[in-house]
Amino acid sequence: MATTAQAQTVPCPTCQAKPNHPCTQPTNTGRSAVGWVHHARATSVDRQAGYFLTFGIQYNTEPHPTWPECNPKGWIRINAPTYEEARNIAIEWFGLDWSMLTPSVHFNPKFFPAGELMVLP
Ligand SMILES: [Zn+2]
Repeated sequence: MATTAQAQTVPCPTCQAKPNHPCTQPTNTGRSAVGWVHHARATSVDRQAGYFLTFGIQYNTEPHPTWPECNPKGWIRINAPTYEEARNIAIEWFGLDWSMLTPSVHFNPKFFPAGELMVLP
């Protein structure tokens, strides 16, 4: 999930805060800024950046059951609006023979020197 700072780079679908402005909540006299961001705003960031699918290191030495080109030193980027939809795409393509599905904001490419193997869908 996106951090507060990352989520604040996009407009908030819930409270209509503008980019780089804090989320607000209604009060009796108007709206006041809050120190957190609405869930929809963080989800919006994740949706734009996609999810990263990686594979277990056993596929360095053994063939992947459904994808001969599998390389655990790289990743597949999945463009989907939610984690659940990204996971469904991963399962559609690879069954359960993958390791991690990571939102882009938490993905560190330095551990995957082979880079991007494919983009789905
Ligand atoms: Zn908001």
